[in-house]
Amino acid sequence: MANKKNVRHCAACQSPEGPTWPVLTWNGLNLCFSCIEDLVYQMFLEPMGDQAAEHMLTHVRETHPQLMPRDDADGSPVLEVETKAQDTLPTPAEMHAMLDNYVIGQDLAKRTLCVAVYNHYLRLRQPKTNDGTEIEKSNILLAGSTGSGKTLLAKTLAKILDVPFCIVDATTLTEAGYVGEDVENIVLRLLQAANMNVAKAERGIIYVDEIDKIGRKTQNVSITRDVSGEGVQQALLKIVEGTECNIPPKGGRKHPNEEYIRVNTENILFICGGAFVGLEGIIRKRIGSSAMGFASIEEDRDTKEFTEEEVLSKAMPEDFFMFGMIPELMGRLPIFAPLTTLTEDQLVQLLTEPKNALVKQYNKLLGMNGVKLTITEEALRAMARQAIERGTGARALRGIFERLMLDIMYEVPSDKSITGVTLTEACVLGKGKPEICRTTGGTAKPAPARKATGKTRKKKA
Ligand code: ADP
Repeated sequence: MANKKNVRHCAACQSPEGPTWPVLTWNGLNLCFSCIEDLVYQMFLEPMGDQAAEHMLTHVRETHPQLMPRDDADGSPVLEVETKAQDTLPTPAEMHAMLDNYVIGQDLAKRTLCVAVYNHYLRLRQPKTNDGTEIEKSNILLAGSTGSGKTLLAKTLAKILDVPFCIVDATTLTEAGYVGEDVENIVLRLLQAANMNVAKAERGIIYVDEIDKIGRKTQNVSITRDVSGEGVQQALLKIVEGTECNIPPKGGRKHPNEEYIRVNTENILFICGGAFVGLEGIIRKRIGSSAMGFASIEEDRDTKEFTEEEVLSKAMPEDFFMFGMIPELMGRLPIFAPLTTLTEDQLVQLLTEPKNALVKQYNKLLGMNGVKLTITEEALRAMARQAIERGTGARALRGIFERLMLDIMYEVPSDKSITGVTLTEACVLGKGKPEICRTTGGTAKPAPARKATGKTRKKKA
């Protein structure tokens, strides 16, 4: 192993050379493979178009495996191409099917998102042509009540596509120069999610949460600056549309003598999400009154036949102006996907069906202690109803379920005689304790139960 004093550091990213991270010296300059790859990609390969560039990189990786960063475990080179998604872009239908494994319901939002995301990444794969047709970036606006799955959808899509992803809270942002977080720092977050690989970050997804909370405070033009509302929207405009940002590598305020990392946001996909409480009513009123030709709350009775999803799908930019969103920002979020409030049935599904459903997770944990978890259908429904009453959708559901499981998770590891636990409606309503089955004596008879990990009802003897 190299003597500590002789360890070379990459001149660009400062990473030290190591058994898993080769550094090359060229004309006295030390550079790691990752930075060489970035440099070559940006200077020579990108102009050739994505497919040719990826082909060339794959060739270099295969013919010069000694240059590749290595797997820690056995020191063997990692030959996998950086992002599988760059090789095979799933079709919208395939993405939809993959989303279905994790996200319950929200069909319209899924379809809209999958098409938009597919088009976005298809656009990035096209070599630049001079035929005058430029496919514009289509950033996305998600609106739906809290806990309806907005963040989950964005996060899951990024996973499916294997692209860097970060979540930022719009309410923590301020215009550059004011107290709070500079808007440009959101790009740093993405860069960090991409392990400081600029080329990777430039194809990532940023989810800006709580976008409805940075509305312009008044409809009037104010002489005092609105730095936390409209000011942030103004600051977001350029980044969302596409610009070169100079990012301080450690974040925080910019300093005159600091070296910056340049990141182009032109190909970064922005998904903005917000609850937009009251949006449905605003749209109902608008479509009701336009259908009748004049504005009248009474007349919008006609729109009552529309479902929440149908109404939300008719949203227009002006409906968002009511929330203080500025037209310029709305113009840069041309794709709109509405999410509906989860119903009792969907909340029950959410507990049991997704790949990482809470019930499945707890069943697995308890299974490690040889204990089988059973939750009755009525118990699941009671939890779903409680979550609806709390008005925070799936978020509340998680809290309710985890609170119920707390005592069980506390007791089980120290009581080896327990072989099964059944949660009934009475437990959820605070009127009873979970029924416990033991190896020796004291077997409590579980109620007819829904098998905790599946959809099917199962009667237990
Ligand atoms: P929000 O719409 O407020 O962004 P999140 O996506 O953060 O909501 O969801 C909050 C929690 O609820 C997460 O744990 C998420 O897994 C779960 N959840 C919300 N909606 C759904 C859904 N439609 N399907 C599956 N899980 C969901």
